[in-house]
Amino acid sequence: MNLADWLVRTARLMPNAPALLHGARTVATYSEWADRAARIGRGLREAYGVAPGDRVALFMANSIDYLEVLYAIWFVGAVAVPINHKLHGREAAYIVSDSGARLVLVSGDERDAAAAFQNAATVLSVESGRYRELCRYEPLSAPHAQASDSLAWLFYTSGTTGSPKGVMLSVQNLQAMSFAYFVDVDEVRPEDAALYAAPMSHGAGLYNFMHVARGARHCVPESGGFDAAEILALAETVGSLSMFAAPTMVRRLIQQARAVGHSGDGIRTIVYGGGPMYVADIEAAVEQFGPRFVQIYGQGETPMTITALSRALVADRAHPRWRDRLGSVGVAQSCVDVRIAGPTGETLPPGETGEILVRGPSVMDGYWNRPDATAETLRDGWLWTGDMGAMDEDGFVTLKDRSKDVIISGGTNIYPREVEEVLLRHDAVHGASVIGRPSAEWGEDVVAFVVITADKSPSVDELDAFCREQIARFKRPKHYVFVSALPKNNYGKVLKTELRRQLDADACL
Ligand code: AMP
Repeated sequence: MNLADWLVRTARLMPNAPALLHGARTVATYSEWADRAARIGRGLREAYGVAPGDRVALFMANSIDYLEVLYAIWFVGAVAVPINHKLHGREAAYIVSDSGARLVLVSGDERDAAAAFQNAATVLSVESGRYRELCRYEPLSAPHAQASDSLAWLFYTSGTTGSPKGVMLSVQNLQAMSFAYFVDVDEVRPEDAALYAAPMSHGAGLYNFMHVARGARHCVPESGGFDAAEILALAETVGSLSMFAAPTMVRRLIQQARAVGHSGDGIRTIVYGGGPMYVADIEAAVEQFGPRFVQIYGQGETPMTITALSRALVADRAHPRWRDRLGSVGVAQSCVDVRIAGPTGETLPPGETGEILVRGPSVMDGYWNRPDATAETLRDGWLWTGDMGAMDEDGFVTLKDRSKDVIISGGTNIYPREVEEVLLRHDAVHGASVIGRPSAEWGEDVVAFVVITADKSPSVDELDAFCREQIARFKRPKHYVFVSALPKNNYGKVLKTELRRQLDADACL
């Protein structure tokens, strides 16, 4: 199967259904979208020699063109390599070269990109006349016939440690992910609209499949990104929006909604994940918007598909363990096995913390040209996620931390997230990230980087007393570093490696 077959099928079944929206304006129906993808696909083949299996990179901002280009690439049986548009040219050049991309599609000026990529690949701007020419080619009659294990998407990890690696996702990985979405996350109806408010190069882009398969609308906001006021306006004009939102986005959206008295009408589903959602934040979100939230936990290596916390579970306040469950990432999705393992791979009993392992059809085939990293990550058919967590008797998984972020003090494991959760409950704390620092006495000490809420100035003693009230003494931070912002990567994940570097450099601590 070819992923473009879903687009062709929907275009035949509902040719006049609105498909692509720029803000509130419909710019293409399904038949127009499929037609353009088939023409651009032929253009890529004939003008740029793109053949099945070739990699084509997209170094583009969110746009309608993004969706057209993705499907054009699949039409010819080539492999999409989405690169986060906010990456530095040098970082993008690494991905272009590592993937061996033949062609890079960019938004904006071709010359800047070509200089960054040092002519390693042909660069074509979707804003250029040469790109528009591609639409004049005769449409390909059908998507290139390919086996389901063909590579479709080469997804580069965000690289919070080391260089990014290309995760090889096949057609069937993405199919399995899409089917699981319908079972575990949400149904999709033609009147719904996927809103791309987060980078399409990452998780948000993957929502296109389910919405194409069901003939729903695809809305790219005019800002091309996350703007809380714009989203609330689109909720009213476009309606029935579904979107992926990282926890920080949910927080900002709820703040805005509170400020203007918006109760979430016109938003159907907010799928959150990609990083820890603190219980206080999701409680506030449900309070404001009601049952519109579903949590997913996944990683590039098994996209969006490890566990889910359904809409009903997120909103089930009456359940005696509602809060515990809100603090979890939910239960295994229907297409995967999930277990918690000790260092030698043995399954640990409920409640014990170990590494989270996943097996199933959504799990990647391996890392591009990295047999070493593949062998380390895929062992005996299981994906070792690098995330630490525990599973309760009912199958709910609670994430602790990345295995490398766990702090070991006095021989006891301390999970930074637990300490962060406590600090964030203090009303003077706006952001917090906790790391370990080598200590001769304890092995490691807990250090908290804290961003203070504007107009507040809590003392270290006050924060310390607050922590002592809520967690074991040995877990509380021994040192506090007050910062104006936490270093984050382009996906909004806190860079603990950067915090460690800062600590090393800071002689006074
Ligand atoms: P990426 O491959 O860049 O999508 O990052 C995946 C990582 O993000 C996972 O391995 C987790 O550490 C983290 N993550 C993803 N979803 C969640 C979630 N729902 N809660 C907490 N962390 C998450």
